[in-house]
Amino acid sequence: MDHAQERSARDQPDATALIQLEMPESAHLRTAFKPLFFIVLALAAALATACGMLFLQRQAAAGRIRDLEQRAAQLSQEAADLRGLAEQRQAELARRERELAQAQDTIGLLKEYSVAAPDGTVPEYTRLYPDFYAPAWEGEAVAGGKVCCLTFDDGPSANTDRVLEILDRYGVKGTFFVVGNSASTAAGQERMRQIVAAGHTIAMHSWSHDYKKLYASVDSFLEEFNSLYQWIHEVTGVYPSVYRFPGGSINGYDRGVYQEIIAEMARRGFVYYDWNASAQDATVHPRPSADIAADCLRGVGRELVVVLCHDSGARGTTVDALPAVIQGYQNAGYTFSPLHPGVEQVTFGYPKPQ
Ligand SMILES: [Zn+2]
Repeated sequence: MDHAQERSARDQPDATALIQLEMPESAHLRTAFKPLFFIVLALAAALATACGMLFLQRQAAAGRIRDLEQRAAQLSQEAADLRGLAEQRQAELARRERELAQAQDTIGLLKEYSVAAPDGTVPEYTRLYPDFYAPAWEGEAVAGGKVCCLTFDDGPSANTDRVLEILDRYGVKGTFFVVGNSASTAAGQERMRQIVAAGHTIAMHSWSHDYKKLYASVDSFLEEFNSLYQWIHEVTGVYPSVYRFPGGSINGYDRGVYQEIIAEMARRGFVYYDWNASAQDATVHPRPSADIAADCLRGVGRELVVVLCHDSGARGTTVDALPAVIQGYQNAGYTFSPLHPGVEQVTFGYPKPQ
């Protein structure tokens, strides 16, 4: 650039300055506030955004609180459920512990009174008749409260028909201890079925009723009772659980074996009953029915009476006495029950030591 050109450029007035000189005052102000306006706008936008975010955050927090409250309620319910469950388990545990204690007691008793010899060997008769075990029994227990159990031994016979008719007339259930010799006849089988159909208890009283043969050993006792057990089931469809020793549990023929018989029969689940009132009708000559009724009613006053009667062929006067016996116990406030494993046992005590 030469000097002339340089001077000319310097002498040219500044274009911007010329424009500024020409601009009015208001325009100057607008130009000054324009950046401020954008700043305010930006701040407002930022504030709005911040408010919006805060609102969203609050909304989110409220939602989260609701969720957490629901979860807390759920956890509280679960905790209550678990506490309930824990209480149940605690009760269950206590019950199991009681059962365990009972089982341990039983184990102790069995070890003490077991038929097994000290070396662990058991008598051979425990292995006999693997099907000769009493059926499981689940029913109501009867422990007294003026209960009378009428029992009839040595049948069935023609007298059984009359006994069944009288019991039916009074709405009374009794127990029939049948013997195999009578029960095996055609008429005997029919009567056994009638006994069961009427709701009475059919029970075992040996096959032969021959004391010498029956009480010769535990084996002979088991043989007869197993035969009768199977026979009763074959004829009636019912397995008996209850039995009675001919002559009572302790008699002149079984002194040497009755303890073992009781233990072995108990091991097999059978329950025996003696009696605490008797018709005294096992006599050679029939007794007058009034005497029989009076003897049967000697049980009045006991909480649980088991009355021994006979329904064998020669015991007609016992049957004649039966209505008076039933009425006598009814008048004294007794109810009648057939024998079953839920009835408290009535048994003879051990003989007094000499
Ligand atoms: Zn008998």
